[in-house]
Amino acid sequence: MVPLYRFAQFDAFDSCMHGISRKLEESHCGFSQALHTGEPAEVIVKNRTRLETYFNHEGATQFVLAEQTHSDHVTCITEVLTRGWEKMEDAVADTDALVCNIPGVMIGVLTADCVPVLLFDPVEKVVAAVHAGWRGTQKRIVAKTVKRMQEEYGSLPSNIIAGIGPAIGGCCYEVGEEVASHFLTYGKSAVMPNAEKFMLDLPQINKFQLMEAGLQKEHISLSGICTACENTDYFSYRKENGCSGRFLSMIGVR
Ligand SMILES: [Zn+2]
Repeated sequence: MVPLYRFAQFDAFDSCMHGISRKLEESHCGFSQALHTGEPAEVIVKNRTRLETYFNHEGATQFVLAEQTHSDHVTCITEVLTRGWEKMEDAVADTDALVCNIPGVMIGVLTADCVPVLLFDPVEKVVAAVHAGWRGTQKRIVAKTVKRMQEEYGSLPSNIIAGIGPAIGGCCYEVGEEVASHFLTYGKSAVMPNAEKFMLDLPQINKFQLMEAGLQKEHISLSGICTACENTDYFSYRKENGCSGRFLSMIGVR
């Protein structure tokens, strides 16, 4: 049994499968799921196989990950094909948001402080997984993903349910003015001035962007978990001075 973080609002639907892996100190590489950060590939693939077995029971058959580049590129997955799972070479190139409506196909994003956002439209049965660091958030990648779900799958934003996963919180994410300046319009609940620095709340800003995109406030769940504060359970790039570990947030339709 793999301990996963789950959102109750996704679990309420039989047509949705999802889960967010956690750090497990006793596992190899802390149960990291990242192939691109220099850990031995065979160890990471073994860690992924444990997750795969778990998700197989949920109904997942294929697993798709992307080569994440802090872009605002959104890719719709239209083939029943595992990609980026056993090797990086066949990952979806240069993409930070995946969208899919094929039953059995799990899509996911890797993070360690950046914001993982999972989306599910229970009416059109479409899911999305989004990687939003400060660059992706500046480029409003969650809003662009919602737009693609509208255009390609007919999703109504008011039907979409969102889960904003564990990420570095406003308690710990100190940034300089050059970063903060992009987000000042979101107000003090998102960017708190702190002497010469600013405390940036990226999960909160992503929530605001989802609401601007038409999602209902009550359809958006925040995990409330700060990766730096809860570093024993989640990888934190900041807290661990540039760690190689990443945890994986996945979602799919049955
Ligand atoms: Zn914190």
